[in-house]
Amino acid sequence: MPFPNQRFIPTRMDMTESLPAALDTVIDPISGKGLIASGRSTAPRFDDGTVSVVVDVTGLSGDARSKLEAAVKQALIAVPGVETVRVAMTAEKRGRKIIAVGSGKGGVGKSTLSANLAVALKRMGKKVGLVDADIYGPSQSKLLSTEGMRPTAQGDKMDPVMSPFGVPMLSMGQLVKPGQAIAWRGPMAANALGQLIDADWGDTEILILDLPPGTGDIQLTMVQKYKPVGAIIISTPQDLSLIDATRAVTFFNQANVPIIGMVENMAGYACPHCGEISDPFGQGGAQAAAMSMALGFLGRIPLDIDIRTKSDAGTPPAADEDDTIFAGLATKVLAWLNPAKPASFT
Ligand code: ADP
Repeated sequence: MPFPNQRFIPTRMDMTESLPAALDTVIDPISGKGLIASGRSTAPRFDDGTVSVVVDVTGLSGDARSKLEAAVKQALIAVPGVETVRVAMTAEKRGRKIIAVGSGKGGVGKSTLSANLAVALKRMGKKVGLVDADIYGPSQSKLLSTEGMRPTAQGDKMDPVMSPFGVPMLSMGQLVKPGQAIAWRGPMAANALGQLIDADWGDTEILILDLPPGTGDIQLTMVQKYKPVGAIIISTPQDLSLIDATRAVTFFNQANVPIIGMVENMAGYACPHCGEISDPFGQGGAQAAAMSMALGFLGRIPLDIDIRTKSDAGTPPAADEDDTIFAGLATKVLAWLNPAKPASFT
């Protein structure tokens, strides 16, 4: 029978359950799940009254991070036997970072964005590669001017082909004849896509993953297996397209992939004859949707005949000296990946 004032001295065994349980009562603002269930944190370390815990805060704003840190401290200090709580916030996941580019439906500019984002990031000095996982319409070989180039294999790993823009890439279109993969069942397609991602990417830091449009089994298998650090969702401003985009948001939330933000494509049309700006698909819909879902908004790409003709010609507009559109998107993505605050115990 312990005396009322006796200090409670827990064993490590006591703590192996109580600490993770306490940590899991703190909710990750992106997935809405506990910190352990969402993968943001693993079991804390406990030593002589001190708990040390690492929390991955990738994708959270400075304000959200501070709140999370306070909530973690509050939850852990309440566990009997805990005297000190040390929290380290980190936004750096080790290894290559996969960024998934998704859309609720086809034809909204997902492949165009993927190619140009990769080129813009490369121009900003990043080592970036691209995987064209769009089994329904692989188009990256055309967009990045690598048509006719075939990947070689070393042992059981493929070697990506190098595009003239310094972005190594692999595409479903290089593995199968046009139209063939559409007939594949989920596991077969996922298997082939896995080979593209598991290829020998060398020192590539960021891998852009151009997902098939939609939110089906193949997409789910891909994101569960390869755990992108974040996802970008592209939509046109139309209502119908936005309903699909909302589905994509739900999909990434359920798969525990943080959403980097939304991009609005084909917003505002500049008439090549008179220069007048019109909005065939409306404007601002994706931004409004992003705001209503508390998501980041990365920017707007205008409907511009130049974007289509340059894409068709295999000369991505992001490679132009005077590109500001894709450079602007890339800057925001980098800011999301490398938030200013370094990891440190507090
Ligand atoms: P998805 O990958 O979503 O199916 P794509 O990137 O292949 O869409 O784009 C579909 C078509 O629209 C392509 O012909 C592309 O060149 C064109 N396109 C995409 N974005 C724009 C834009 N902002 N302005 C003009 N054409 C565009």
